[in-house]
Amino acid sequence: MPTKYIIVTGGVLSGLGKGIASASIGHLLSSRLKIIPIKCDGYLNLDPGTMNPYEHGEVFVLDDGGEVDMDFGHYERFLGVNCKSKWNLTMGKVFDIIRQKERRGDYLGKTVQYIPHVTDVIKNHIFDIAEEESPDLIIVEIGGTVGDIENELFLEAMRQMKEDVGKNNIVYVHLTYVPIPHGVNEQKSKPTQQSVNLLKQRGIFPDIIIGRCAQFLTPQIKAKISNFCDVDPKAVITGLDVEDIYEIPLIFEQEGLAEILHKKLNIYSPPDLRRWKQYINNIRNPDKEITVAMCGKYTRLEDSYASIIESFNHCSAHLKCKINLKWIETTDLKDFSFLDEVDGVVVPGGFGIRGTEGKIEVIRRARERDIPFLGLCLGMQLAVIEFARNVCGLKGANSTEIDPETSYPVIDILPEQKNIKDKGGTMRLGAYPAVLKKGSLVHQLYGRDEVSERHRHRYEVNPQFHDIIQEKGMVFSGKSKDGRLVEFIEIPGLRYFVGTQAHPELKSRMESPAPLFYGFVKACLGM
Ligand code: GLN
Repeated sequence: MPTKYIIVTGGVLSGLGKGIASASIGHLLSSRLKIIPIKCDGYLNLDPGTMNPYEHGEVFVLDDGGEVDMDFGHYERFLGVNCKSKWNLTMGKVFDIIRQKERRGDYLGKTVQYIPHVTDVIKNHIFDIAEEESPDLIIVEIGGTVGDIENELFLEAMRQMKEDVGKNNIVYVHLTYVPIPHGVNEQKSKPTQQSVNLLKQRGIFPDIIIGRCAQFLTPQIKAKISNFCDVDPKAVITGLDVEDIYEIPLIFEQEGLAEILHKKLNIYSPPDLRRWKQYINNIRNPDKEITVAMCGKYTRLEDSYASIIESFNHCSAHLKCKINLKWIETTDLKDFSFLDEVDGVVVPGGFGIRGTEGKIEVIRRARERDIPFLGLCLGMQLAVIEFARNVCGLKGANSTEIDPETSYPVIDILPEQKNIKDKGGTMRLGAYPAVLKKGSLVHQLYGRDEVSERHRHRYEVNPQFHDIIQEKGMVFSGKSKDGRLVEFIEIPGLRYFVGTQAHPELKSRMESPAPLFYGFVKACLGM
């Protein structure tokens, strides 16, 4: 069977959830098919690694060290695959490839043009992946909204693909918005019509339209969209506003999306949603509840911490526990009374000075009051700093990232990072193995001697201070294979005081919540 393609585009508004829609389509079809997700982003950065999470949401890190769009988090969680950085194609990467080809002489004698040269690079990139992975199905999500200048070349490449792969092997799905204006109280189709028109002007005639809406689309509006946009009425699907994104595959299934895709692509992969339904049921019907303080810097935008939020959802699904996240902005934090109302504290990853003293103070109080604590990357580093200052008596201990002049640099730049000048893609990135200490809590939580988690950092626990910190009672419960890098810490005797240099939230899945989160939630519950 040749590889089949589903191309997902978006219209009307950004932020309608194309990533979730693509991942949900994949989830529906994943029972019998090998599916590869690809995301095309129109910006000129090589990858999102240097972007502020405020602007672009969380930077997702893959096993291979790729820093990619946060939609890859949804893909991995919904499809159960480990993605590769090649599957995130940005316009920055496309131009980088073009420039290298041109310098090499690949285009000798020719004028290098948007069409066919740029569109060829885009298509060949996708076809390369098809050849390397031999999937049954590739889902290509085109970032942005139809009409954006920066996505035109991707759209043109997608249009051309129909000719290359054959019209029976490709389906175009367009996600739009169906508003119900206040006072009018009726579902409106005009934005969808206009957005589909924009797409048609580019030569793409959608086969399926998903209308994001606060209600199920009525038969009338489906008929209208079908009529004006030239699609089968059955191919107009509701993209319902839902409280949690894991419901989307269920909605799509109810709306008959899988069946239409089977027919149009001549595939058969019946959705198996039983376990997923059970998980959602557990999330919806909790029998216990906890509140966790998330002490960070970008807490105004939840997208910055998407994977952490999902990790907690995974715990909810297994423990039938409602988990309220209380977002605490630690810049200029003076009032710590929130600690009276929470069952646990998380200090997530981060960069730079802002907010660090507030976080250190939160960690001190959590440790002294024995409130369950989980430190992720920077959160772990700050826990080591706090311990060095207040237990080991190393006054003014710090990370050289925060205070380059500190007399006790308990966190210091990795030796291999010292001479690196470029900022993009140069951190310690991707999955690395760690050896766990037998008898430690972390070892017990993972139930294994060796684990592999993903990383994104430049600093480490300074080996010069390993002895004094351990003498005073902090346990290094996991280290890199050569024993140099501290990957996991814990303080025995406390209910739960655990940190890791890694980002275990990136590998948490509905079927298998990240062990450190699972253990943390259980500790918050007093289990
Ligand atoms: N800023 C710290 C470092 O680079 C922590 C990074 C992180 O939390 N991802 O080591």
